[in-house]
Parts: sequence; structure tokens; C-alpha cells
Amino acid sequence: MSNEYDIIVVGGGHAGCEAALAASRMGCRTLLFNINLDSVALMSCNPAIGGLAKGQLVKEIDALGGEMGKIADKTAVHFRLLNASKGPAVQSSRVQCDKLLYHSAMKSAVEKEKNLHLKQALVDHLVVENGHIRGVEDQTGVFYSAKAVVITTGTFLNGLIHIGTVHYPAGRAGEIASVSLAENLKSLSFEIGRMKTGTPPRLRASSIDFSQMERQDSDPTPEPFSFTTTQLRPERLPSYFTATTPETHQLIGENILKSPLYSGTIKGVSARYCPSLEDKVMRFTDKGKHPVVLEYEGLETEEIYAKGLGNSMPPYLQEKIVHSVPGLEFAEIMRPAYAIEYDFVQPTQLRLTLETKCVAGLYLAGQINGTSGYEEAAAQGLWAGINAACAVQKRPPFILDRSDAYMGVLIDDLITRGVDEPYRMFTSRAEYRLILREDNAVIRLMGKGHDLGLISKDQYHLYQDKFHRIEKGIRHLQEKKIYPVAATNKILDELCITPIKNPLTLYQLLKRNEMSYDDLKVFEGWEPIEDPMVKKQIEIEAKYEGYIKRQHEAVQKMKELEKKKIPSNMNYASIPGLSNELKAKLARIEPATIGQAERIPGMTQAALMTILITMKKMELEAQAGRKES
Ligand SMILES: Cc1cc2nc3c(=O)[nH]c(=O)nc-3n(C[C@H](O)[C@H](O)[C@H](O)COP(=O)(O)OP(=O)(O)OC[C@H]3O[C@@H](n4cnc5c(N)ncnc54)[C@H](O)[C@@H]3O)c2cc1C
Repeated sequence: MSNEYDIIVVGGGHAGCEAALAASRMGCRTLLFNINLDSVALMSCNPAIGGLAKGQLVKEIDALGGEMGKIADKTAVHFRLLNASKGPAVQSSRVQCDKLLYHSAMKSAVEKEKNLHLKQALVDHLVVENGHIRGVEDQTGVFYSAKAVVITTGTFLNGLIHIGTVHYPAGRAGEIASVSLAENLKSLSFEIGRMKTGTPPRLRASSIDFSQMERQDSDPTPEPFSFTTTQLRPERLPSYFTATTPETHQLIGENILKSPLYSGTIKGVSARYCPSLEDKVMRFTDKGKHPVVLEYEGLETEEIYAKGLGNSMPPYLQEKIVHSVPGLEFAEIMRPAYAIEYDFVQPTQLRLTLETKCVAGLYLAGQINGTSGYEEAAAQGLWAGINAACAVQKRPPFILDRSDAYMGVLIDDLITRGVDEPYRMFTSRAEYRLILREDNAVIRLMGKGHDLGLISKDQYHLYQDKFHRIEKGIRHLQEKKIYPVAATNKILDELCITPIKNPLTLYQLLKRNEMSYDDLKVFEGWEPIEDPMVKKQIEIEAKYEGYIKRQHEAVQKMKELEKKKIPSNMNYASIPGLSNELKAKLARIEPATIGQAERIPGMTQAALMTILITMKKMELEAQAGRKES
């Protein structure tokens, strides 16, 4: 009995912790494996959560009852609202956390969950029978049975670290790679690719001359990620800005062949949007300098994360590179920068639930699916954990579409388009970003989290009340009118607002950029609102009403295409008029709807029409068959 579980999660990183917490909170007996329990939810790279588009993911995870936002709030020591001067659609929160506190707070959350068991072991291989997952076996030969397994092994599958000419197997610096599981996935016929990422050196704070750098302090009044957070920790740490110099660039240029990236040793694909320092210097030759940002890794450590100095040069050159940067002339490297290559599974082999198409009950989430980033991993982990639990409990799958959430965009992109470089989330990937804002994640998703059993009744009712107050506040302003009389225009003039010539509702007046909800208090009928969230939502709804309406109309059109379900027995090979390339793609991706088929790269309107005609024919044949019988 002790080795029998509903769900097993392999890998206790950012994806694995969310998957295991969701599955256990939904009532499944769950086991979470990690190679080393001291590295649960470790931040492999920078100690930061959130950022552009990633902040939206964290808020969505939180609104669905996930853990990342709560732990980030508990352990954050530096807060920024990015794009604060731009519109709400592209504003995102980013925090720097204390790395070790983040790890221990997440480990503690996992340990305290009553249906969840945490075990230190290396999973060696999956046990699959007749295309169905049965469980896993660890390195010591112990078998654990499960109805569903979620793999979230990050950069550990066949991980290979590179520093200069030296390379050795590792999942991350100081941790063993997961080799047998990688081979096992290949033997199960998964299409596997190879990617590369890297991390900068960690420097000793007391060896840095911060006086030569620009200091950036935390925002003074930050907002938490989680709707459950009532208090943030009081300590704050600054960041510092400096930059590379012509000397840095010369050092790299003269020694470029000592970098495994340029010597041809590294074959894995790296992210174009996140180049290493070697890449930046070699590709952008006209740039005289590149920014370097120094971030503390925690409250009780001297370690400083040197963002912008990521490279894979030999250690003696790393030292020279670091010393060529103003303020770092005498900096001591505590951990060298390195690059890592690892296996990933092409995500077009997954269903919308993140279940693999070739092994029933097996789910993949996180960096194993070709993504990069803690938030992307956590979002997939939550999604896979929920869906594994739904499958075990014979509940309908949990799917969000591209208009519901950034998470819907992420999953749809992965399974429909696949990846050819490490995938990270950008606001530009979300076509409906004005309705997928950070500030309304809780409005969009909390009900779904509640239905899944991941949000408590009390929390849900509290927020239902807020949502009603937003609607009521909007209605109220829409009913209150002001008229173009001298007294009103005098007030507007005092507020530096153009006088009105026609009657206007207070809601219409609020649409003006310069007006805030509280500015309306000079008019009769205005009612005070204490709750900042309620006030902010009323303002955003008023100011962006036209754009939001247009996005909702576009969503409706998209939903029409999503309603057209493609039968699972569609034989694309037999459809005349489709190119062989499209036939192969369609057969591999198995789009569930015409909407999804439309998003497959290379899809044409003519090909879509051919599929629609084939679907109609299949429907008519099925009807005729039913009549005959
Ligand atoms: C060197 C490096 C640099 C990076 N740089 C960036 C960056 O600049 N920007 C960015 O956004 N992201 C970066 N990342 C990626 C980021 O760390 C990951 O995207 C994120 O951690 C992925 O989360 P995950 O849960 O998928 O995997 P991970 O966080 O890697 O967790 C995987 C877990 O699985 C466990 N595991 C593996 N195999 C087994 C097994 N067989 N049995 C049991 N347990 C197993 C491991 O112990 C580990 O704890 C970097 C990663 C590395 C390693």
C-alpha cells in the first residue's frame, strides 16, 4: 500500500511543486520525487520571480490556487512594477527573492500538504504497459505504482555542463544529471531535442565597489502577487547597475574560440532573446557596452548574481571579463558562469492537458517541454497536476483558451506550434492582452480555481463580493449625469479638464486620461470606495472600454472556430489537396479544433477549407450510416 499512489510527480522544481500541490489538494494521494531534497524549488538562475508577461503568469497561478505567488511574496526583498508608465495590459510585477528562503518556504509548503509525500530519489525509468503508465522505478530498483505520472525534470535530462573546454554531466551545477530517464523516454519513441541555457557568475559582495554603480531601490509601496498575502516581509535589498567596457569586448573577441559556444562543442539551441555575453559581443559589434545588473541572492549571503555577464569561458578568462567591468575590478567569483545542454521533448507530442499522446496517463511539464523560466514551468506544472487529478478522478479536463489566460496561450503555443528555441512568455504572444491583465487575473480565474477545489469557499465569496461591487460601481457612475452648466464647467476647469458641451455621465468623464475615480468626488452622486482593487478595476474598465469591447468581439470570432471540433479519427493522409508537409504536421499535432488547426505554422485558408469540407462529408456519411442501421 505504501508504494501505491494516485499521482507521482518526478522532479521537485518549479513545475513539480505546483503539480504535486495541485494534485494533492484536489484529493489525490501524491508522491513527489526530487534527486535531492535540499534543492526543492531551487532557482537555477536569477533569484527573481515575475517580469514582463511572467508576472501575469504568476498572478494567474495564484488565482487558480497555486503556490508560486504566495512563496514569492513571503521571500521577496526587492519589488518593481515594470512598465509602470505604460498601459495596464503590459504592466508586470517582478520581485527579487531570497533564494534559500524561497526554496525552504516551498519545501515547507509541500511537506505540510497532507495528501502529499516527498521523497529523495532518482527516478530511473517509467513503467509502461500497453501504452498506459503504471508507475516508476527508482535508481535502487524500488517500484512505485501510480494512475498518472507527471515528469518535470527541468534541465536534468542528459544535462551536460560546459565551462571553457571542460564539460561534464550534471543537471545543474553541483547536481547529478538524469541520464537513464532520458534514455528511457527515447526508447518510448518520444522525439527528443537538445537545448542550451546558461547562468552568470556569482560574485562576493564585499569585493565589489558599489560606489561606481547606479543604485536602484525597491518600489516603496509594492503590491503582492498573491490575493491571499496581507503582509510582506520588511527587509529590502537594492540592485546596482554597471556595464561592460571595450576591454571586456576585446577580451571576448580575442578569446572567442575558447568559448564552447563558438568552438562548436555546444550543439543545443539557445534562446535568441537571451544571448550570452559572448553572443552579445559577437553579434552586436556596434554596441560599445552591455548592461550589467547586480542582484543580491539573499539576506544572509554575500553572493551577488551578475545579470548580463552570463558566459561559458574558462575560469581564468571569466575572472578577466568580470574585472574589466567598472566596480568589479577586484570582484571575487564565488561560483563561475557556465552553460548547460539538456534534452527536451518536442511538445507537439502532448495533448491540451499536457498528457503525452503516446503514453496514456503520462504528463510532461516545465523545461522538459522546451520552455525556459520558473513561471512558465510553474504554470505548466499547475496545469498538468490539475489535469492528472481530473483524469484520475474521472472529471472533465481543465483547459483554458487563449482568451482566458496567458496560461492558455502558453499551452496552445507549445502543443500547436512546438518549439525551435527555449520558449519564454512575452506579452506580444498574447493577442488578447488587454483582457489578460495582471490586475484582473483573479477576476478571470478564481471561479475556475474554486470549481477545482483549489480556492476555498471563503476566499471565493470574499472576492465575489468585490466583483459585485465593481459592477455596482460601474452601473452607479453610468447613471449619474453632469450637465454643461457654468458651475460644472468651472469645476472641470479647476481640475484642468476641457469643459463639456453636452450632458455626460460620470462614467464617461472617468474615461478621460487625467481623471481618477476619486477626482469625481466633487460631483453630486459620487460614492467613496475604500477597496483599491475595486476602484482600480472601475477606472480601467472606463478608460479602456472601447478597446476591451473590440477584444471581446475578436474573442467571440475565435471561439466560433474553437467550437468546430475535428473528429479524433480524422485521416489527414487521405485528404486530397493537402500538401504532404501539412498532412504530416496535422497527423503529428492532431488539432482538436479548427481554431487550433488554423494556428499550425504553414496552415493556409485553402487547407482549412479542405478540412472543413472533409469534416462535413464525414458528418453526412455518419448520418447516412445511422439511418441505414
Ligand atoms: C544554468 C541555468 C541557467 C538558467 N537560466 C535561465 C534564465 O536566464 N532565465 C530563465 O528564465 N530561466 C533560466 N533557467 C531555467 C530555469 O531554471 C528553468 O526554466 C526552471 O527552473 C524550470 O523549472 P522545472 O520545474 O521545469 O525544472 P527545474 O527547476 O530544473 O527542476 C527540475 C527538478 O527535477 C529533479 N529531477 C530531475 N530528474 C529527476 C529524476 N530522474 N528523479 C527525480 N528528480 C529528478 C531535479 O532534482 C530538479 O529539482 C536556467 C536554468 C539553468 C540550469
